[in-house]
Amino acid sequence: MSKQRILVIEDEHALQDILTYNLQAEGYEVLSATDGQQGLLKAQTALPDLVVLDLMLPVIDGLTICRQLRGDPKTRNIRVLMLTAKSEEVDEIVGFNMGADDYVAKPFKVKPLISRIKALLRRPTTDSSKQDVVAVHGLEIDRLNHTAKLNGGELALTPTEFKLLFTLARQPGRTYSRLELLDQARGEDANALERTIDVHVRALRAKLGPAADVICTVRGIGYRMVVERPAE
Ligand code: CA
Repeated sequence: MSKQRILVIEDEHALQDILTYNLQAEGYEVLSATDGQQGLLKAQTALPDLVVLDLMLPVIDGLTICRQLRGDPKTRNIRVLMLTAKSEEVDEIVGFNMGADDYVAKPFKVKPLISRIKALLRRPTTDSSKQDVVAVHGLEIDRLNHTAKLNGGELALTPTEFKLLFTLARQPGRTYSRLELLDQARGEDANALERTIDVHVRALRAKLGPAADVICTVRGIGYRMVVERPAE
């Protein structure tokens, strides 16, 4: 098996060195960049499995990089772990809105950070544009046939509920903001209020019945499908 490749985009040299050293020691191939422009270019050309992305960077900031990676089919599935400055609570929300898979606030300890990176790399990336059937937590959702089943029984979902469930289920563990979900559910015509997502999610949970807990509310942000179901 070839080594997994990680790109570290961080302008603090000391931090860059620590991350590179520790990730190499864990057996990863590590690429580095110290400004946003260089980082974005490396991500686009080297196509790493994961990018550790500092938020505050010279030339191009981390959010712009994240948005560009997500907007390009070639780089859309690269996992992004965002590093944010201490106590910038708002960045948590912004980071998720821009599509980061996870974030860690500075200052951080190296070992837990590496554990988060490992967890992200274990998470399957799914090319959502190709995947038509999703099976998770007893759910089976077929996008082509437009059917959703729970433990074999068909669910009667509205088109919006169907799209919501499909979006959440194809990437368990990934948090979606309400705005993102609205985009997914409505396509181009995302002019409704974000809160309408809550109404659709409530209706969807009611239809899932005992499996309603597979959709978890992320306070202040949106929703995600759980990776593992809570013990019953
Ligand atoms: Ca920085």
